[in-house]
Amino acid sequence: MDLFEYQARDIFEAHGVPVLRGIVATTAEEAEQAARELGGGTVVVKAQVKIGGRGKAGGVKLAHSPEETREIAGEILGMDIKGLTVHRVMVAEGAAIDEEYYFSILLDRANRRHLAMCSKEGGMDIETLAKERPEALAKVGIDASVGIDDAAARQILTEAGFDNSEHDALAPVLVKLWDVYAGEDATLVEVNPLVKVESGEIIALDGKVSLDDNSTFRHPEHEDLKDISAEDPLEAKAKAEGLNYVRLEGEVGIIGNGAGLVMSTLDVVAYAGEKYGVGPANFLDIGGGASAEVMAKGLDVILGDEQVRSCLVNVFGGITACDEVARGIIGALELLGASASKPIVVRLDGNKVKEGREILEKAQHPLVTMIDTMDGAAAKAAELAANTPAQA
Ligand code: GDP
Ligand code: MN
Repeated sequence: MDLFEYQARDIFEAHGVPVLRGIVATTAEEAEQAARELGGGTVVVKAQVKIGGRGKAGGVKLAHSPEETREIAGEILGMDIKGLTVHRVMVAEGAAIDEEYYFSILLDRANRRHLAMCSKEGGMDIETLAKERPEALAKVGIDASVGIDDAAARQILTEAGFDNSEHDALAPVLVKLWDVYAGEDATLVEVNPLVKVESGEIIALDGKVSLDDNSTFRHPEHEDLKDISAEDPLEAKAKAEGLNYVRLEGEVGIIGNGAGLVMSTLDVVAYAGEKYGVGPANFLDIGGGASAEVMAKGLDVILGDEQVRSCLVNVFGGITACDEVARGIIGALELLGASASKPIVVRLDGNKVKEGREILEKAQHPLVTMIDTMDGAAAKAAELAANTPAQA
């Protein structure tokens, strides 16, 4: 789960990372009031959208009085930033910036470790910096059993080219940002810019935090950070139905039983789809002992995804026998009626495969094609996706 900047700010504050005061506002009047609460001086009005580059897009602006804050907040609220509408702004105390740095910690999956990145050249787009001047961005692997202690922080700072005289002020902030990362089970903590203000103090001026959703059981308080309005409606629906569903980018909807089978189905579909430029639209595991009813729920979610052009059901009958799955498919299509209009390729194998295939054959449903092998079924589903026009 990605957090809004103001949520990251709150978490930073709770872990002792130096931040400036900030107040969230959803209307221009609230923003004006917030500016007064912050002392009536210069503030920064910042669009709260979960995307970088707000500054360049005009979503971060200085205001010198509460009246001006209202005006600017009025402009920023409702603004569209890279396809996201601004519903909230944060009114934050203004900082007299002397220098802007970059610091982040992230989960480096490819190398099975945590990675700290640090640069004296913050503020700008970090992808650009990494590409154009990679030598200006230090990358330091972090030993998970140690984390970022004072010594590790100083090593990172040295590699980023900071003078020793600057270490004393910066190192404790890096250590506290590791506290945020480890303590909150984050997969990303990014501060851009981390600034030195004219008084010499170090402050985290912007914050991007992603939390590991698999750790919510350890952090019941993270539940409150969820932005329900922005949740993918299909993912929310699937979750409410108790389905194990993840939405992907492609066109072939996939249903299988058992995570391993579904994952290998994704691979096979991705491979078969290369030829047509199509790929898997989702991961949906209906589970080892899934009933016909669960199959119906799964089909309902997938066929309701407008991105989906064909669907592949790949089931290996075990506890749930193939005949039950076949009845589930037919039952689901009856339930969905005219709203089910996309071709479905079914591959059944395992327990009671003969009975299952017989049920499907007898039903003669115009949308259903049965294929006996996984590769063949994936190829057919990919071909159908390529030949079925997208629905309006
Ligand atoms: P982003 O564009 O989404 O990354 O938004 P940031 O919060 O990083 O702000 C973008 C830029 O605005 C920063 O790099 C700063 O240069 C500037 N900025 C943000 N807050 C302040 C502030 O309090 N005072 C001043 N002078 N500039 C600020
Ligand atoms: Mn930033």
